[in-house]
Amino acid sequence: MHGTSDASIEELGQAILTYSEERLKLDPVPLDRPMTPAQLEAAAGQTITEGGLGGIAALDLFAETLAPACLSTDHPRYLSFIPCAPSEAAAMFDLVVGASSIYAGSWMEGSGAVYAENQALRWIADLVGLPERAGGVFVPGGTIGNLSALVAARHTARAKAAAGQRPFRVAATDGAHSSIMSACEVMDAEFVGVPVDDQTWQLTGERLREVLLEHGPETFFAVVATSGTTNFGIVDDLASVAEVCREFGIWFHVDGAYGGAGLAAPSVRSSYAGIEHCDSFIVDPHKWLFAPFDSCALLYRDPALARAAHTQKASYLDVLTDAPEWNPTDYSVGLTRRARGLPFWFSLATHGTKAYTEAIERTLEVTRFAAAEIGRRAYVEVVREPTLSVVVFRRLGWSAADYQAWSDRLLDEEFAFVVPTSHAGETLTRFAIVNPLTNEDDIVAILDTMA
Ligand SMILES: *Cc1c(COP(=O)(O)O)cnc(C)c1O
Repeated sequence: MHGTSDASIEELGQAILTYSEERLKLDPVPLDRPMTPAQLEAAAGQTITEGGLGGIAALDLFAETLAPACLSTDHPRYLSFIPCAPSEAAAMFDLVVGASSIYAGSWMEGSGAVYAENQALRWIADLVGLPERAGGVFVPGGTIGNLSALVAARHTARAKAAAGQRPFRVAATDGAHSSIMSACEVMDAEFVGVPVDDQTWQLTGERLREVLLEHGPETFFAVVATSGTTNFGIVDDLASVAEVCREFGIWFHVDGAYGGAGLAAPSVRSSYAGIEHCDSFIVDPHKWLFAPFDSCALLYRDPALARAAHTQKASYLDVLTDAPEWNPTDYSVGLTRRARGLPFWFSLATHGTKAYTEAIERTLEVTRFAAAEIGRRAYVEVVREPTLSVVVFRRLGWSAADYQAWSDRLLDEEFAFVVPTSHAGETLTRFAIVNPLTNEDDIVAILDTMA
């Protein structure tokens, strides 16, 4: 199984590199389609055997049977949820990370990787406007990032609470991501939804203030604002929310899992005014920053507060925890960690930050084109003008079943992946555009199928 004397390392290595290279060179990649358990059972059968299939046979099985049953999230007409369209550099470097057996939880074991990851985090911290002492860690996704930030927030709030008080509430936008509710469940905290402004659909300081006063501000340990809601791409009114957080001394967390990337785009940067006041922030490079799954950048204004909440203490860890160096594992839930920020770092180092700005601006340009094109067609209607790179729209006269049948047909034909969504009880559909290869023709072609 191990050892360099095995001649198959060379053969399998070549086969895997060739497969990977060819997958990345496809233009476009195949969209592919889901298969049922019965279909996969018939096509792949039992893959784990006592003697093993051999690497080449297992790779063939993956290439011919399993991979076509996985949607390519980087297909230019995959516009559902939030797609993931890694740069070739980032995707290729993931192979290197896998081959390198790096333990990136501690400085002692992974200093080179941690150094590079921290520079990538610094680029993001500068976009946010966080001070020099800010820092954090790459975690698997926004869900763990939000949870980790909220754990740090609660720890901090309880440490400074008056005697007999244990803040247990989180205030967040009604449109906050499901992971905030999930984090509250895990933490046995109470989620308090704040109604958004009727006109702008944003969380505002004014609305937040009312809700805090109604429940007692001292019972809250965090406020969560969203810088780019998943469904609509709405950026909350961060400046007024920050002010209210400051007034009551409550931790201000900004969830930018999807939308945080827009900070690098001058054409939308003003929407984020006030973000520099946050106590913690997340953005998923696997969403709109062209990195492969799974990667979320989690940043704290004051990392010492996170360290106090998250450092695991055990006799077998003393050699690490007693060291003064930066141990990424001290800043989130979890201990063992892959250097999951490295593919993102490698791509940033390869291309430079200007290329990121250009790629993000390109997706915004296509989004604006999509909104305008929808406006030109009588049978479709934009529900809300896009702030970022999501456009939600309705097909006039369609029922929920019509949307579903249309969406199923597009996927069945392996033409596009655009699923229905809903808002205020109405079924709608949406384009989430984070792939710079999605172009105007793709948008036109999809809209034509709805006529
Ligand atoms: C996607 C998303 C999350 C969750 O991130 P995962 O990486 O899927 O765990 C949280 N918040 C927002 C706003 C998101 O768009």
